[in-house]
Amino acid sequence: MNPLIRSNVDRLHAYTPGEQPRDPEVVKLNTNENPYPPSPEVGRVLAGVTADPLRLYPDPGCTALRQEISRLHGCSIDQVFCGNGSDEILSLCFGAFVPDHGKVGYFDPSYSLYPVLAEIADCGVVPVPLQEDFTCPDLPADYDVPLFFWTNPNAPTSLSVPKTQIAAFADRSEGVVLVDEAYVDFAEADCMELALTRPNVLVTRSFSKSYSLAGIRLGYAIGHPDLIGALMKIKDAYNVNRLTQEMGRAAVVDQAHMRSNIEKVKATRQRVSAELTRRGFEVWPSQTNFLWVRPPHRSAAAWYDHLRQHKILIRYFPAERTRSHLRITIGTDLQMDRLLAAIDADGSC
Ligand code: PMP
Repeated sequence: MNPLIRSNVDRLHAYTPGEQPRDPEVVKLNTNENPYPPSPEVGRVLAGVTADPLRLYPDPGCTALRQEISRLHGCSIDQVFCGNGSDEILSLCFGAFVPDHGKVGYFDPSYSLYPVLAEIADCGVVPVPLQEDFTCPDLPADYDVPLFFWTNPNAPTSLSVPKTQIAAFADRSEGVVLVDEAYVDFAEADCMELALTRPNVLVTRSFSKSYSLAGIRLGYAIGHPDLIGALMKIKDAYNVNRLTQEMGRAAVVDQAHMRSNIEKVKATRQRVSAELTRRGFEVWPSQTNFLWVRPPHRSAAAWYDHLRQHKILIRYFPAERTRSHLRITIGTDLQMDRLLAAIDADGSC
């Protein structure tokens, strides 16, 4: 204990980000990045960059970027908030929507950052356990929290629920329902309509997965102008840097490029799901750019180690509910062939 440090921070179990290995030979299937390059329009922005304008602060309102995002979703600019990754937006929501000593909700397992952010904000949590097969239970009729994170599709389980289920909860909830759609571009349906029609629904999106831009740190939220206004009030004035604003705008304009990358990832997802199933893995029907699997013959931890020895990095979560499973990001076909070859090298499948 160090008395100089706030007690909740002193006690905090910090979020563990996925490893970023330096060895270029490692097949990196551990943090759900996109294996394909971002739009060439982003490259053109970068090629045109000169150092001089960096003297100036960026646009604090991200106006041009928000304009483009509002055009994409057919809404007004005051329904759009941009953040330094969607993680920043999740964090800001605590300050904007959760009263002192309030509690936040989420499913367990879902994104492991939520409880960490709750600890940092010094607020309580009311997690809702997923069912044995990782599908969502009905939320108890008296369940309500000032802020509920509904990850859809969910991570790390890769499953999604129909919009009607989230709408029904939002309509009876007195708090904000944040639909975390970090992976939604890989799914069949989304909940954007709820953010555009309900006063208490926020939808967050990320540039890190579908747009292949994890390195620029950009995410956005769509919702009622009152909710967006609250986030605007408390954000750091210049939370999205100048280059990110320009690159993000270029990426949004080029929807065709993003969509074609997604089709490639989805085709590989289908092929690898079948190959893993053939090898005895239990594979959940993924709506994301990763697979949630239960491996056969030996423990998930042993599989993780085995693949690591073959320079293939996937994600293993040792918590109680997740320790029999593995999360595998969909890479290129070549990368996935290396994964399958390493599995076959084990000899037990
Ligand atoms: N939500 C979920 C469910 C995620 O898995 C992630 C990525 N770790 C994020 C949000 C954060 O994405 P970003 O890179 O935009 O901060």
